[in-house]
Amino acid sequence: MNPFLFRQFRRLETKVHELNYLFWECTQRCNLSCRHCGSDCFTSAKDQDMPLEDFLKALDTIPNPFCQNTSPKSTASRTSSVKLDESDSRTNSSSRKDNIDRLIVVLTGGEPLLRPDIEQVGKEIAKRGYYWSMVSNGFFYTEQMHRKLMAAGLKAITFSLDGIGENHNWMRGNPNSYEHTIKAIEIAAKERTLDLDVVSCINRRSISQMEEIYQKLKALGVRKWRLFTIIPIGRAKDDPQMHLTNEEMVRLMDFIAEKRQLSKPHPTTTSVIAASDKTTSNIAASDITTSNTAASNIAASDKTTSNTAASDIAAHPEQEMEVSFSCEGYLGKYEEKVRPVRHFCHAGINIASVLIDGRICACPNIDRDVFSQGNIYTDNLFEVWENKFQAFRNRDWARKGICAGCKQFKNCLGGGMHNWHSRPDGSTSLSDLDNPLSCHYHRTGGC
Ligand code: SF4
Ligand code: SF4
Repeated sequence: MNPFLFRQFRRLETKVHELNYLFWECTQRCNLSCRHCGSDCFTSAKDQDMPLEDFLKALDTIPNPFCQNTSPKSTASRTSSVKLDESDSRTNSSSRKDNIDRLIVVLTGGEPLLRPDIEQVGKEIAKRGYYWSMVSNGFFYTEQMHRKLMAAGLKAITFSLDGIGENHNWMRGNPNSYEHTIKAIEIAAKERTLDLDVVSCINRRSISQMEEIYQKLKALGVRKWRLFTIIPIGRAKDDPQMHLTNEEMVRLMDFIAEKRQLSKPHPTTTSVIAASDKTTSNIAASDITTSNTAASNIAASDKTTSNTAASDIAAHPEQEMEVSFSCEGYLGKYEEKVRPVRHFCHAGINIASVLIDGRICACPNIDRDVFSQGNIYTDNLFEVWENKFQAFRNRDWARKGICAGCKQFKNCLGGGMHNWHSRPDGSTSLSDLDNPLSCHYHRTGGC
């Protein structure tokens, strides 16, 4: 899309700020210990899992076009009285309005599959008429789990594969992780009504395996593969093996551009993107398994890469796997070569999150100490969405540091919100002003 038209589109999207993706950090517990995880996830996290009832109470503050007789509710409380009742009027499928955008609830963590009530979580979201999705490391995604979650209305899933064999296990801190993840991908890829998205965190070890990963995923029948890089924060900050050199960054871009040439987006994809840069029937959440705290690594609902509705997949079995780069930064000459649309950080514009402690933010990997907008235990989620999030919707404040005089600011708006953090004096700064790894535009050679 022409850059001028794209900016117009972005302005309109920002003005309308329709909530399309709601991430729920439903647990901080995790069975793995990933090298690139910026979070404090442990097998037993300090924060208890948020009770489902509390999340539902917050969810029900959102006016729901798919349900009759629902009206915005008050804030949640730790002793919520929301009934988990199968006979609720929200189960009435005739009340669904399939032709308008619907909210997608994305379960993230930690590892969502560690929640014993995961099936009920899905059912409760689905019976409200919303789609739901999950970001998982795949370790516990067995055939039996798959069947249970599909029956609970699972529409999309994202698994992380960060290398072949030992390289993946090295990243994930578990010698059996690769085997489990491959099995999970295999199970999900066979399910034609499930929108599967595989994401890979490319680091100095896995960059040499990109072709091998590509071939492996193709052989497994995967339709979408999204690559991203490591933000120099959290556990990854001081790990030199995590961060690509600028030359490797260019290599990554060239690889993605070349593979995108091979894929043939079908007409539905093209028209959807041209129309609105989003679909109503799919999700492309990236590696939110790593994203739990302010310091988490790249993770997001990359709306811009969502483009293949599950039903379309079934109708286009011959389609090549679509390879794309995540939403993480503006790329100058590589824009549109490595993604279906231009860089657009949708955080706070179409994406919100409910964090483990009830805080309301945008992408879960944004610095929550700086950018949280409220808390579901004291505030009405939808009112917060409507009336706050100003720092996300007007990014003029980001014209500072290296971004201040940057000619690309109008296209980039200071990059992804995940790059901004607090400084000891309380001000915010682009993390790459401290660490030049964050401006992808400059790293990949500008325009
Ligand atoms: S300097 Fe800032 S505004 Fe310019 S391209 Fe880099 S991140 Fe974007
Ligand atoms: S903050 Fe923006 S750029 Fe970063 S992951 Fe979220 S949507 Fe993408």
